[in-house]
Amino acid sequence: MAQIRIENLRKDFGTFNAVKSSTFTIEDGEFFMLLGPSGCGKTTTLRMMAGLELPSAGEIYIDGEEVGMKPASQRDIAFVFQMFALYPHMNVGKNISYPLRSQGMPKAQIKKKVHEIAEILGITDILNKPVGGLSGGDRQRVALGRAIVRDPKAFFMDEPLGALDAEFREHMSEELRALHDRMGATTVYVTHDQLEAMQMGDKIVVMNHGVVEQFGVPQDIYDWPATKFVAQFIGSPPMNFLNFKGVAGNGATSVMLGETQVQMPEILQGAKGNLSFGIRPEHIRLDDAAPFRGRVTATEYLGTTQIVLLDTPNGAIKARVASSDVVRVGSTTGLTFDPRTVTIFDDHSGKALLSQANQGVLAHG
Ligand code: ATP
Repeated sequence: MAQIRIENLRKDFGTFNAVKSSTFTIEDGEFFMLLGPSGCGKTTTLRMMAGLELPSAGEIYIDGEEVGMKPASQRDIAFVFQMFALYPHMNVGKNISYPLRSQGMPKAQIKKKVHEIAEILGITDILNKPVGGLSGGDRQRVALGRAIVRDPKAFFMDEPLGALDAEFREHMSEELRALHDRMGATTVYVTHDQLEAMQMGDKIVVMNHGVVEQFGVPQDIYDWPATKFVAQFIGSPPMNFLNFKGVAGNGATSVMLGETQVQMPEILQGAKGNLSFGIRPEHIRLDDAAPFRGRVTATEYLGTTQIVLLDTPNGAIKARVASSDVVRVGSTTGLTFDPRTVTIFDDHSGKALLSQANQGVLAHG
């Protein structure tokens, strides 16, 4: 069990700055997600925390002790990679017990431990089987067993489910989360999949181009994105942005979209210039009487809901409405927005203008 804190962590590869200056804390027992697009620096961050890569600057603390320069072997962390390479000449039990045998643990103790772990993973019936003929799921469980058998301080996982097909991936992610809930060990998990991060994580760090864009619990990140990048990366379809020029001054509670005044939460930190009005598709309602109007260009049927694509004077927008709503392509309709769910962004910095409602939950890295 461990708390992991990183402060101003940086990594350069030659002249390329892969991780800029990351600061966040992973609390003891958390399931923590490092999320971002390919190349954003997630793996490099994890490798520095594990001791597989030396930081160029900054500090890493495990339970309060600075470990930045300590080798991986002295950090007591189990690293689970995407490719679960099992020892092909050993059976399941021997694969799981390998770390304990190499530590020189007495045989009787090893046997007890392996049985405990097999019980947790539901694989006691295959302990004597060779690993060659196992299903993908069982291989994954054996690899996990090998990682958890020695009670490390924390588990680090780098896209562990990346190679699996969608259905099996969902099953394994539920299993992993349940395993974590039973064992309570601090887990750091790298993924580029926002849905996986939202479903599994207690907390999420969102990275882009080596920068921590936001850090917090999934719902705060979804409801109150700190930057336009986060607003677009999280959610499917992502948050809409309607462009407008003007002023969103301190204390403002509405902005003008075209000729229409639209309500929003109170802004405490204003800006002027090119701004974006951010609204999630499910927070838009189609209301014929509303003055702000859009023309329906397409609809996408999704079962209980449908996505309606509209052109407005301030840009294209996607609304998620009930499938039972009758929407005709080519027609014009009014749009209303739930004011509590609007976020205004400064286009220049890409940052959300802090509002009274969200000022407590935004945390920039
Ligand atoms: P992916 O999911 O694609 O692995 P990532 O977010 O994990 O993406 P990293 O693997 O951390 O990204 O890489 C961040 C950047 O650093 C990338 O541009 C990558 O090409 C670069 N990089 C990583 N390792 C090295 C290295 N050893 N030498 C040079 N550049 C590297």
